[in-house]
Parts: sequence; C-alpha cells; structure tokens
Amino acid sequence: MAAKKSVLVVGHGLIGHSFIEKLVERHADFEISVLREEPRPAYNRVMLTQYFENKDADKHDAMKLSYVSEAELKELSVKLIYGRAMAIDREARSVSYTMLGKGEEGSSSVSYDVLVLATGSFCFVPTVPGMTLPEKKNVHWPDDPASRPEGVFVYRTIEDLEGLLTAAKAGANRAVVIGGGLLGLEAAKAVYDLKMESHVLEMAPYLMPTQLNEPAGTVLTQKIQALGISVHVGVQIKEIAHTEDGKVRGILILEKGADTLVLLECDL
Ligand SMILES: Cc1cc2nc3c(=O)[nH]c(=O)nc-3n(C[C@H](O)[C@H](O)[C@H](O)COP(=O)(O)OP(=O)(O)OC[C@H]3O[C@@H](n4cnc5c(N)ncnc54)[C@H](O)[C@@H]3O)c2cc1C
Repeated sequence: MAAKKSVLVVGHGLIGHSFIEKLVERHADFEISVLREEPRPAYNRVMLTQYFENKDADKHDAMKLSYVSEAELKELSVKLIYGRAMAIDREARSVSYTMLGKGEEGSSSVSYDVLVLATGSFCFVPTVPGMTLPEKKNVHWPDDPASRPEGVFVYRTIEDLEGLLTAAKAGANRAVVIGGGLLGLEAAKAVYDLKMESHVLEMAPYLMPTQLNEPAGTVLTQKIQALGISVHVGVQIKEIAHTEDGKVRGILILEKGADTLVLLECDL
C-alpha cells in the first residue's frame, strides 16, 4: 500500500485552521501537520479585545476565543508542532524551524509532500530609531518581538495582551498607542480600561483616515478626547526612547505645526 501523502500547513490562524478543517471533512487521505509559532492552537484574533473582559481568567478557552484544543487536533490526527518556520528546501521538500515547544530549544525540520503557507500578515511597526535594540536584533526575524525595548508591544496575539496586563499589574500607568486606525483605537480603549493615562498618535490629520473623511474623523477625535484619551494627530514619530537597561521610557515626537521635538513619557 502506498504511503499517505503528507500536508504541512505553516501558520495556524483562522485560515490555516479552516483549511485543515476542510481537509479533514473531506476524509482526504493525508497525514496533516501544522507548524505554529504562537504557543497555543488557533484562536479568534478578531475577538482579541474580549480578552480584557475577564482579565483574571487562566485560559483563553474560558473566553471562547479558541477554535480548537490540542486534544481535538490529536483526535483529528493532526500533528501540532510549536515552531517558527525559518527556511524551505523545495528540492528536499522540507521546512526547517526553530523549536518553540515547552522546554524545547534549537532547530529541527519537517518534510512534506504538499506545503501550505497560511502565515497571515504582520503588524506594521515604524522603523524609527530605538524600535529595535541593536544587541537584541534578530537577523533571521526582523519583526522579532524580543528585539524591541521592554514595554513595546504590537496588538496582535494573546501574548501581547498578557504582556500589557502584566505591565499594568506591575505599575505601568502611562501608555502611548502608535496608530489611530481601528486596531489602534481598540488598543487605546484597552489601556484606558486598565486605568492608564492614554495617548493615541496618528500621523494623518484625523483618526481612522482609511475609513472616514475629515469631518467624520474630526468628530471621532473629539469624542475620543472627551473620554479622557489624548489624541495627537498630524504627529511625527522620531524615536523610541529607552533606558540603559532597555525599558521604554517615552516617544520623541514632533507635534503638528511645532518646530521642537517633545518627549512623550510612557511606560508602555
Ligand atoms: C485585534 C484584532 C482585531 C481584528 N479585527 C478584525 C475584524 O474585525 N475584521 C476583520 O476582517 N479582520 C480583523 N482582524 C484581522 C484578522 O485577524 C486577520 O485578517 C485574520 O486573523 C487573518 O487570518 P490568517 O489565518 O490569514 O492569519 P493570522 O491570524 O495572522 O495567522 C497566521 C499565523 O501564522 C503564524 N506564522 C507566521 N509566520 C510563521 C512562521 N514563519 N512559522 C510558523 N508560524 C507562523 C502567525 O504567528 C499566526 O499565528 C483583526 C486583527 C486583530 C489583531
């Protein structure tokens, strides 16, 4: 009997998981593996802000964010590998990855007959001085969260939100959000709900410039400011200032119409 063909899915977000579900539903005769860099099976990223509704919950499952558990994947005979894909050898049909499972380190590789890349997108992070610490720079992964100053997060994963909550519990009380679009405002609401002094920086002349026109964006700016969140529009971000031991301490900005730089101090 011929050996089963193997399908390797890289990335276990909404798309990677939907693909696996469809493949399983069709009873296709494949050995399925999924390589995932986040430390838990796929969950609903769109509902991420709900994570703040129950800050003390131990498990994201409690908030119904999860699409599937490790046990369910096992039942479906889907092999879940925690790791970050680093290189594809198309000739040898194998993917090498950095191992990220509990207690694992180093690298390994997994072979495939069919490779599916479902790696999604990544957050745009402005490449201003101070955003990456030279001593922590990762040449293989320019967007490596570990290369940023402590206290600098993107708003994308459960780990990012846990980082925000941990920082809040440790006493962080001033937060600056870069980006006044949909996700920036969600992030601003999150830090506002954590009782932090909150600022939003938007380089366009008004908030949500992709979705709104100027009059609507200006009304929104006024509404957000009325909540007690400081909105800075038409602002330029010049540098992320950090302490000698690599903790964020502020953002150097040029406010609209100003000719001198200002350090907006922050903990996050
Ligand atoms: C807070 C928030 C709210 C959102 N709200 C909405 C909304 O209301 N409406 C909407 O349409 N969209 C929304 N989005 C966007 C939506 O989440 C994405 O469009 C959707 O998640 C895309 O699914 P995906 O599976 O393609 O990618 P992702 O969800 O990004 O999943 C890709 C996975 O692949 C992993 N990966 C990447 N590279 C590698 C690698 N080299 N090795 C291993 N794994 C890797 C990533 O870590 C990730 O886990 C929101 C996003 C966020 C963060």
